[in-house]
Amino acid sequence: MMDLISQDKTHDESRQGEALLLDPVAGKNNGRKLYIESYGCAMNFSDSEIVASILSESGFETTGDFNNADVIFINTCSIRENAETRVRNRLKEFKVAKGKNPGMVVGVLGCMAERLKSKFLEEEKLVDVVVGPDAYRDLPNLIEQVDSGQKAVNVLLSREETYADISPVRLNTNGINAFVSIMRGCDNMCSFCVVPFTRGRERSRDPFSIVNECQDLFDKGYREVTLLGQNVDSYKWSQSAPPKPSPEGRALEEADQKVSPTGGDLEGAVNFANLLEMVAAVHPDLRVRFSTSHPKDITDEVLYTMAKHDNICKYIHLPVQSGNSRILELMNRTYDREWYINRVDAIRRIMPECAISTDVITGFCTETDEEHKETVSMMEYVQYDFAYMFMYSERPGTLAAKRYADDIPEEVKAARLTEIVALQQRMSLGRLQQQIGKVQKVLIEGFSKKSKNDYAGRTDQNAMMVFPVDERFKPGMYVNVIAEQCTTATLMGSIVD
Ligand code: SAM
Ligand code: SF4
Repeated sequence: MMDLISQDKTHDESRQGEALLLDPVAGKNNGRKLYIESYGCAMNFSDSEIVASILSESGFETTGDFNNADVIFINTCSIRENAETRVRNRLKEFKVAKGKNPGMVVGVLGCMAERLKSKFLEEEKLVDVVVGPDAYRDLPNLIEQVDSGQKAVNVLLSREETYADISPVRLNTNGINAFVSIMRGCDNMCSFCVVPFTRGRERSRDPFSIVNECQDLFDKGYREVTLLGQNVDSYKWSQSAPPKPSPEGRALEEADQKVSPTGGDLEGAVNFANLLEMVAAVHPDLRVRFSTSHPKDITDEVLYTMAKHDNICKYIHLPVQSGNSRILELMNRTYDREWYINRVDAIRRIMPECAISTDVITGFCTETDEEHKETVSMMEYVQYDFAYMFMYSERPGTLAAKRYADDIPEEVKAARLTEIVALQQRMSLGRLQQQIGKVQKVLIEGFSKKSKNDYAGRTDQNAMMVFPVDERFKPGMYVNVIAEQCTTATLMGSIVD
């Protein structure tokens, strides 16, 4: 995988393999230590917080050193072959630790667990437990099963599980930005993608629990939430008699009044635009972001809702995958080049200042040079702010693996990738250069990675801005910063407040 412009935090290369550490739950200690590390997208990191929360409740303490752990969990990603290779290599390191401590339980969670199921136990002898993304509530039982000398597997997918009632514990964060999962699974069948098989059917989480979680985060000092789903624009929740909001659900009551006039009748269905309104109403100082938008589903209603609220960030991650209609059809993306351009034009018309990022795959089955050129011309048309770019990696069991030959030589995939990476770097630089001389509202996230004399934070459009520390302002506060210089990925400026 090449992750070249890693501005978008939903797949943060720097967090791959990060271990999660939590405070112990008072009065609950079984004397055992859990080590959990995560790979892949933000959804996996968010799931690991749910897992840690479930196991803290049953008395586990977390540790940052797997050599001291009684239970090691690795939350895995299957999206491309090299994501799986990374996990297999990591398991080799755990094997050494288990050799020294044979009572250690080693578990594989997430997408790879779901994809390989009990085959994992045969292929990797050190693994004791294999658990899919919808079975985390069963973890305490599965660990007991292993303690009694058996191997344990639960890879049942659910049509209902959203873990809505489990509050994820967030201690590895900066206390300012948080991910909030709003839905699970995916009902699209993009032919290259393993997600529908590993994460099951799409289901949306109760909006009341989402708003309560965002309110709670705001009360704890968080100032930015990113609503997460594979396809947030198809969020849909309906229940004839929604549960009453908790006494803390102040924002929800306000949102209820605010949503209704726009058609978001909480007695009926709540769509993504309605949900955005509800979360935006939590507090004007809570920034709202979301990912990922599917071009086939993003509506003008969502765009107008974004335009209406200052605290909904003007940034959309809109994966194009390819700029050629024949390839898009083979990919089963259910939109064509014209449709995608129409959606981009709508974004530019409704929110001219909105940043757009994308995902691109090079060398999908049968892609010709001319078809690749259409991807290049699409990128030039849109002028993306950032892009994640990948070479096609055939995944077993997907529609593409069954129907089409993976017939583009690796060197051709790589050459096409190199070409678009260079193009994107030029465009990212150009987009940031356009910001120079302009004043941006920045949420201070902390010190810059390079110097304690500088703060780093993001603009509304998700660009990283670095600027000298001013003691009057602390992380979690908003400041107005004038952009003075830039690199391909960062703006440099100074505070003008
Ligand atoms: N749900 C999101 C969407 O529809 O755009 C993206 C989900 S996926 C986790 C993130 C990205 O990985 C995709 O947008 C695609 O570009 C890339 N991807 C997925 N399967 C791939 C494959 N088999 N080979 C290469 N890249 C792949
Ligand atoms: Fe995969 Fe397509 Fe679903 Fe995204 S929308 S997760 S690419 S199947």
